[in-house]
Amino acid sequence: MSLAPVFSLNDLTKVYGEGASAVTALRGVDLEIAEGELIVLLGPSGSGKSTLLNILGGLDQPSSGQALFRGADIAHFDERALTQFRRRHVGFVFQFYNLIPSLTAFENVELVGEVATNPLPPGEALEMVGLANRMHHFPAQLSGGEQQRVAIARAIAKRPSVLLCDEPTGALDITTGILVLDALTQVNQATGAATLLVTHNADIARLADRVIRFADGRIRALERNTVRAKPSELDW
Ligand code: ADP
Repeated sequence: MSLAPVFSLNDLTKVYGEGASAVTALRGVDLEIAEGELIVLLGPSGSGKSTLLNILGGLDQPSSGQALFRGADIAHFDERALTQFRRRHVGFVFQFYNLIPSLTAFENVELVGEVATNPLPPGEALEMVGLANRMHHFPAQLSGGEQQRVAIARAIAKRPSVLLCDEPTGALDITTGILVLDALTQVNQATGAATLLVTHNADIARLADRVIRFADGRIRALERNTVRAKPSELDW
């Protein structure tokens, strides 16, 4: 028997603005995301990928449709409930790492623990992304890939149910990008957090359980990989 989905999206739409200047970003998205699943979201710029991620993460709300998180419709949460939802359940990783420059890697991760109920010890989170020996370095003393791994450690420190990653390797070269993807896939497996990864790089799709191809605010294709490739096997 399969587990209940962590997210169930039904006919989700999003329109920004009104009247003549209205922009439709999502045009009816239906999707179920299983617990622990790794999904790669591909699609051209402007196709609605970030809008979908923002709604799943409680940063934005849809114009219509349902966004059920373990049965609760976050589309109708008020600000307070959304804040609670984000704090308890969602880890974000963006293209730029947004670390605090005056804090060490350890302290950057520790900070998240202060708003979480049952945080991972910062050392454990940093160990999970292969940075046990860099914990007390400042961001400026770390490479781009290492900073992104600190950002991943920070995202998982609150033990999120969902990890949302928007172009996490967009600013990195191949070698460091692979280390970041290694960290993400290991974290996905170790924590069981359902992981959505938005990317422009179609080769990264081979890492996923399922691949969503997005176009013009809709899911155009949904494929399941029979085998998940390892980051080191990618030929980008
Ligand atoms: P992607 O992540 O695939 O590049 P986005 O979700 O960022 O796509 O954008 C989808 C569409 O919604 C685009 O046409 C974009 O210009 C528009 N859009 C995104 N955010 C806003 C916003 N805050 N206000 C108005 N339009 C927006």
